[in-house]
Amino acid sequence: MSRQSDKSKCTRFVPAWQLNLRAWKMMFRESPGYFVSNLASSVCEALAPYATILLSAQILSELAGNRDPQQLAFWAGLTVAVTALLALAGGALKQWSGYERDSLDVQRFKCVADKMTVMDYAELDRQEVYDHYSQVQQNDNWRGVGLNEAMRLFPDFCKSVVQVAGGIGLTLTLFFTDLPAGSPLAFLNSPLSMLLILAAMVTAVLASSACSSKAMLLTNSNVELIREANRYSNFYGIMALEHVRAADLRIYRQQENVCRHYMDSFTARFLGVDGPLFATARGPVGLLMGLSQALSALLTCAVYLFVCLKSWGGAFDVGLVTRYVGSATQLFGGISLLLQTLGEIRANGEFLEVLFRLLDRPDRMYRGSLTTEKRSDRNYQVEFKDVSFRYPGTDRWALRHVNVKFRIGSRLAVVGPNGSGKTTFIKLLCRLYDPTEGEILLNGIDIRKYRYEDYMDIFSVVFQDFRLLALPLGENVAGAADYDRALAEGCLRGAGFGERLDAMPKGLDTVLYKELDQDGVEVSGGEAQKIAIARALYKDAPFIVLDEPTAALDPIAEADIYAKFDAIAGDKTAIYISHRLSSCKFCDAIAVFDGGSIVQTGCHENLVADETGLYHRLWQAQAQYYTKE
Ligand code: ADP
Repeated sequence: MSRQSDKSKCTRFVPAWQLNLRAWKMMFRESPGYFVSNLASSVCEALAPYATILLSAQILSELAGNRDPQQLAFWAGLTVAVTALLALAGGALKQWSGYERDSLDVQRFKCVADKMTVMDYAELDRQEVYDHYSQVQQNDNWRGVGLNEAMRLFPDFCKSVVQVAGGIGLTLTLFFTDLPAGSPLAFLNSPLSMLLILAAMVTAVLASSACSSKAMLLTNSNVELIREANRYSNFYGIMALEHVRAADLRIYRQQENVCRHYMDSFTARFLGVDGPLFATARGPVGLLMGLSQALSALLTCAVYLFVCLKSWGGAFDVGLVTRYVGSATQLFGGISLLLQTLGEIRANGEFLEVLFRLLDRPDRMYRGSLTTEKRSDRNYQVEFKDVSFRYPGTDRWALRHVNVKFRIGSRLAVVGPNGSGKTTFIKLLCRLYDPTEGEILLNGIDIRKYRYEDYMDIFSVVFQDFRLLALPLGENVAGAADYDRALAEGCLRGAGFGERLDAMPKGLDTVLYKELDQDGVEVSGGEAQKIAIARALYKDAPFIVLDEPTAALDPIAEADIYAKFDAIAGDKTAIYISHRLSSCKFCDAIAVFDGGSIVQTGCHENLVADETGLYHRLWQAQAQYYTKE
C-alpha cells in the first residue's frame, strides 16, 4: 500500500524533479567532468544554430538592401569563421563528453556496488533485498532508466534551457515590430491578435509535447513485462558464459533444449508481432507520436505564415524573415525538448525512487561504540549464552539454546551431520547475524556493544564457500595492495602452497583467474583452499575458524594441514569444523551439533566411549567406511 503511494508520488513532477536533482548531485561528486563537459557541449550545440541564423540574416539583409560587396564579404567571412569554430568546438566538446559518458558507467555501477558490499550481511539473505537489487539492475540494464536516464537527461535539459533562452532573445522583437499604419495587415499590430497568435503557437507546442510524453508513459507502463523479458534474455546470455554450467551443458547436450525454451517464450510473450509490447507500439503509442509530429509541422507552417505576412506588410526586410523563422523554429524546438525532458524526468521518478530506496536501506544491526582494545595477550573470551537463531524470513530454528564458552588458546572441534547448524554457529560468532534469542559475550559484554569493525577484526575465517578474487595472489592473501610480501609468502608456505608458489610465473604478483587478466592463472579447488588458509593466517586474528578446511584437499595435503595445524593455530583460539572425526582427535574439546543444538561436548576419547551418543555413531560410520576400504 505504502509502496503504491510512494510510486504515485514519484510520478508527480516535483518529487520526481527532487529525485533527479539528487541523482545529479550524487553523480556530480563522482564525476564532475561529465557535468562540465556536457554543460559546455549543450550550450555550444544550442547556440550554434542561432549564430548561423543571425549571421545569414545579415547577409540576406545586405543583399536585399545596400548590396555593398565589402560588407557582404565581411558577413560571409564571419559566417564561415563562426560556423567553423562552433563546429570544431562542438565536435571537441562532444568527444570529451562522450568519453566522460563512458567512464560514468563505471561510477554508476559503483554507487550500487558500494552499497551492496557494506550492507548488513543478514540483509543479503532477504528475498526482498535480492528482488529490490535485481529490479534496480534490470531497470538500468534493459531500459536504461533510473540513474542512467537521469544522466542522459542532463545534457538535454541544459540544451533545451539555453535553446529556449536564445530563441526568446531573438524572436521577441518579432512581436513588437509593428506593421506600417496603412498596411492592410495592420490589425496584426493589436495586442489582442498578437496574444491570440502567441496562444495558438504555445497551445500547439504544448499539445505536441503532451502527445509525445503520453506516448512515453504508455511505453513505460510495460515496464514489468520488459523486466521479465530482460530476465529471459539474461538467463540465456549469462548462462552461456557461466563456467560452472559449461561442462553440464555439453555433456547433457542441453543447449538446444534451453535455447528452444528461451526463444519460444521470449518471442511469444514479449517480442512476437502480436505480443503486448508491439501492440502498444503499433496502437496508441504510434498514434500519439504521429499526432505529435503533425502538430509540430503545423506549428512551423503557422510561424512561416505569420513572419512572411508581417514582412510582406512592411514590418521588416527579408533578412529578418530568415532570422525570425529560424529562431522561432529553434525556440519551439527548444520548448518541445524542454517539455519532453521534463516529462522524461517525471517518468523517471519512479525508477529513481526504487534506486534511492535501495541506497537508503538502513542497516538493522545495532552497532555499538566500545572498542575491543587490541590486546597483545589475545585475551579474548567468547561465550554463547542460550543462543537461538532463525534465518531472516524463515520459521525454523537453525540454532536452539546453544551454550558454549571458548577457552583462550584452546582448539574446539565442531562436528555434526549436515544441516545441524555448524556454519550458522560460526556466522553468529563472527556477527554476520545477530542471535534471535540469547546473547553472545566477549569478555563478559554483549558483542553488539562493540564497534562492528573492531569485533570483526578478531576473527580469521575460512568459510566452506570462500571465494578468492581475480587479483594478484599476494593481494588476495593480504587483502590490500600494499602489504608485507615476506609475511604473505610465509603464510602461503605455512598453508602448504610453497611449491605451487615457486612455480608461479610472477610469484606473489601472479593474477588469479582469467576474469580480469588474460595471463591470469587458474588454481584448483584445493590450491584455492590453501590460499584461503594463508589469507586467514595473514590476518593473524586472535580467533581462527576453519570450516571444513580440508574438503577440497588431496589426502597428502590434508595430512599436511593436520600435521601443521598446531603451528597454524599458534596461540590463537581455533575453531575447527570437520566431517572427518579423526581430525578432531587433537582438539581440546569437541562440540557435537544435531538439529541446531549442541548435544554432546567433551574430548574425543570420552565421546567415542559413550556408545549411546551421536559422536559414537558418527565415528563408527566413518570407521566402518575406512575399514571396508
Ligand atoms: P551445517 O553447517 O551444519 O551443514 P548450516 O549451519 O549451514 O548447517 O545450516 C543449518 C540450517 O540452517 C539448515 O537447515 C539450513 O538449511 C539452514 N540455513 C542455512 N543457511 C540458511 C540461509 N541463508 N537461509 C535460511 N536457512 C538457512
